[in-house]
Amino acid sequence: MAPIETKTYDYIVIGGGSGGSGSARRASGWYGAKTLIVESGRSGGTCVNVGCVPKKMTWHFASLNEELHAARHYGYDVPENIKFDYGSFKRFRDSRIKQLNGVYENNWGKEGIDLVHGRARFVEPKVIEVTAADSTETKIRYTAKHILIAVGGHPIVPGVQGAEHGITSDGFFEIEELPKKWAVVGAGYIAVELAGVLAAVGVETHMFIRGDTFLRKFDPMIQETMTARYEAVGIKVHKQHKGFKEVQLLKDGKGADKVLKLIGVEGDEIEVNELLWAVGRAPEVEDLHLEIPGVKQSRSGHVIVDEFQNTSVEGIYALGDVTGQAELTPVAIAAGRQLGNRLFGTPELKYARLSYENIPTVVFSHPEVGTIGLTEPQARQRFGDDKIKVYTTRFTAMFYDPFPTEEKKLNPTQMKIICAGPEEKVVGLHILGLGVGEMLQGFGVAIKMGATKKDFDSCVAIHPTSSEELVTMR
Ligand code: FAD
Ligand code: NDP
Repeated sequence: MAPIETKTYDYIVIGGGSGGSGSARRASGWYGAKTLIVESGRSGGTCVNVGCVPKKMTWHFASLNEELHAARHYGYDVPENIKFDYGSFKRFRDSRIKQLNGVYENNWGKEGIDLVHGRARFVEPKVIEVTAADSTETKIRYTAKHILIAVGGHPIVPGVQGAEHGITSDGFFEIEELPKKWAVVGAGYIAVELAGVLAAVGVETHMFIRGDTFLRKFDPMIQETMTARYEAVGIKVHKQHKGFKEVQLLKDGKGADKVLKLIGVEGDEIEVNELLWAVGRAPEVEDLHLEIPGVKQSRSGHVIVDEFQNTSVEGIYALGDVTGQAELTPVAIAAGRQLGNRLFGTPELKYARLSYENIPTVVFSHPEVGTIGLTEPQARQRFGDDKIKVYTTRFTAMFYDPFPTEEKKLNPTQMKIICAGPEEKVVGLHILGLGVGEMLQGFGVAIKMGATKKDFDSCVAIHPTSSEELVTMR
């Protein structure tokens, strides 16, 4: 058998998703490092293919239905039975993603990055072997002084009998015909976002959650208002649910033709057309053979890194979802760029790193949720009750003025500013309502800069907007 060829690079990036791409482009495009990306799936990773991008497009699709409904209250003659073609929207979404896969690969090419499509695994401490995507026979080995693990994660499917009859968020983006009735198990970002979009286009939605509220890592104001809002618009939230013990496929098919029976551990039963498992994600490390270099992992399998994204092995780094740190695309990109700066940049960048403090995040629910910094319980615990001042407001945005009173109640806007110390430094900001996703970024800059409540108040309000409340709260 011919010896396997080993090619040498300055930088090998395993995974061409948000973090890997960001880091490779910085290393090669800015500093000329000889860089290789190994990507086993579709270029761009989770965000582009089965995450942020198709999700936000679907959120727009669903939000349009809400706006068409609103248009009636403004006097527009919108028919009661609005028809839509989800299949055609899905085909457009797929084509846009395919285009983005090309954009990623073009950018890598333009910046001198080599790309190999295949699955990487460690065969020696600083050597990886790649099984080409189109063949299990072709294997090439690569080595580099610096190797980045940016392999992301995958959705968890619980060990329930028949669980495979349901789908995860990956399968959600393959749906061509909408179910009439579906079940969503989970209580985090994905459960709330995907339940929200299908409910907004009229799919009977049942959420199964272990607690009394969803988004339990968020401020209590967000948890309580959003759970109540979802219930008020007709989503059935099954609280304190003890889980399912079996999923039976009663009828295979697409959309409303598929029938599943879910059997709960307490004997409860429900028939639905689709089931979404949204109970979290796990790192994609199973076949990387991290034991060969000796890269340390946490109990959950996430790669352990220090503040500079160093793993326990010199010259091997990790970032993004595989580390379990703030699993967000801009976080992975920013960490990747900073690592590129540190490894290949000028000497003054030798301590470059991403600060994980005060990361703004938005849940694209209905309505959206925006949050940055500490929740109220976290702030009270960190600073003490007597050092904290909390400002809150709840109102109905002007957009809903023509809505009947009962419907106005379904559409709250709510805001909370949490301040600490005598100078009232803003340590947490939590907002929900129409347009808050776009509102948060600018306030995020102010909070990153250390803004106080006085700084907020010193900015003249923009009237009439919802965001003006954030600079006028008493
Ligand atoms: P990924 O983007 O997952 O990239 C990892 C890449 O590595 C993949 O392309 C994979 O194919 C490849 N790979 C894995 N193993 C190997 C191997 N052995 N060899 C070679 N290649 C390999 N974040 C936001 O900020 N905003 C959002 O709105 C948002 N929405 C989301 C919606 C959903 C449904 C999901 C699932 C996630 C969402 N996220 C969102 C999170 C975001 O997608 C991730 O945080 C981000 O993609 C992580 O980037 P990454 O580089 O760590 O991993
Ligand atoms: P999350 O960690 O956000 O939520 C998973 C939730 O599922 C848990 O919080 C838990 O809630 C619940 N859960 C866990 N196990 C079970 C179980 N056995 N039965 C029922 N419920 C269970 O994970 P997601 O998969 O939703 O999202 C992964 C990450 O991707 C997010 O954390 C986020 O970082 C990122 N993301 C970001 C988005 C954005 O920026 N808009 C959108 C989508 C994803 P509880 O403890 O309350 O029961």
